[in-house]
Amino acid sequence: MQKLLAAVAVSGASVRPDARATALVRGADGDVVGAIVRADGREAAVRARGGVVLATGGFINDERMLRLHAPELARCKYRVGAEGDDGSGIRLGLSAGAAPLNLGMGSISLPVTPPKAILKGLLVNGQGQRFVNEDAYFGRLGEHALLHQGGRCFWILDDATFVRPDVPRKVAAVGETIGELERELGMPDGALAATLELYNRHAARGEDPLFHKKRDYVVPLEQPPFGALDCTVEGSLYAAFTLGGLHTDPDGAALTPAGRPIPGLYAAGRTTACLAAPGYASGLSLGDGSFFGRRAGRAAAARAGR
Ligand SMILES: Cc1cc2nc3c(=O)[nH]c(=O)nc-3n(C[C@H](O)[C@H](O)[C@H](O)COP(=O)(O)OP(=O)(O)OC[C@H]3O[C@@H](n4cnc5c(N)ncnc54)[C@H](O)[C@@H]3O)c2cc1C
Repeated sequence: MQKLLAAVAVSGASVRPDARATALVRGADGDVVGAIVRADGREAAVRARGGVVLATGGFINDERMLRLHAPELARCKYRVGAEGDDGSGIRLGLSAGAAPLNLGMGSISLPVTPPKAILKGLLVNGQGQRFVNEDAYFGRLGEHALLHQGGRCFWILDDATFVRPDVPRKVAAVGETIGELERELGMPDGALAATLELYNRHAARGEDPLFHKKRDYVVPLEQPPFGALDCTVEGSLYAAFTLGGLHTDPDGAALTPAGRPIPGLYAAGRTTACLAAPGYASGLSLGDGSFFGRRAGRAAAARAGR
């Protein structure tokens, strides 16, 4: 941000904070030639010689759009984004004929570490079965847990491995035996016990042949009492932001459903469909926002003859 702000300061650009774009203006030929902007209680029409670049974030803070396009994200307790990420820029683009892409996709994090010692535990679904290596990236854990396991998951630990994560998680159940834990969690009789039996058999040799968790975190879980931390989407913290948005070409030009660029309309960042949808990894949002944002700005400036 320091680099960006320094570049803006020497660019001669006029910056208008606390202003809201409410509409796009199109010329008789359909080109986007400006925007209506509201600031200080007044509306003004701003002429864009090269084009308008929509960089208004995603729609994690618009309940209606979220429920319509990405209902699973709407279940997450923590919405990652600026307050203004209400999808208004995406809607402006749609109003000018731009096509949406991947609106149902999002980044979903299930933060369990630190401390890393907790990775000795097992992440299981509502049927007591593992479905991912527990030391996977927290964005991968969240995607698998919410999108493929319905957001009903638990983190199983024994007395030797029990540790509380820095991000608070409630204890969902405690039992002197795995059977007790299963019953408290409403799992099918014997399901969690079977998972533990298989895991412990290989963990005794430091191996995890099912999901290949790193050896450092593979130890048998056999010391009572056993506990389950709440990793359900309703009862614990999942963090989400949207990855879908306007369909653009590599120069940020907004595309129609037929794949034609809309003259004068560009978009960047979370107003567009992220490269990482599906399968987000940290950095890919700021990364594609800044990389393709520069390309969009250059393309619009070139159109203005700069
Ligand atoms: C705690 C946290 C950690 C994160 N960590 C990472 C990370 O490690 N790596 C990574 O890649 N990403 C990360 N992200 C996500 C990343 O910050 C966002 O995806 C990124 O900021 C999106 O940039 P953007 O410019 O597209 O939108 P934003 O940064 O959301 O900016 C959009 C701006 O436009 C404004 N706006 C909206 N509508 C209008 C309108 N109609 N008119 C005028 N203004 C409008 C909004 O108020 C907002 O200020 C993190 C986010 C958070 C909150």
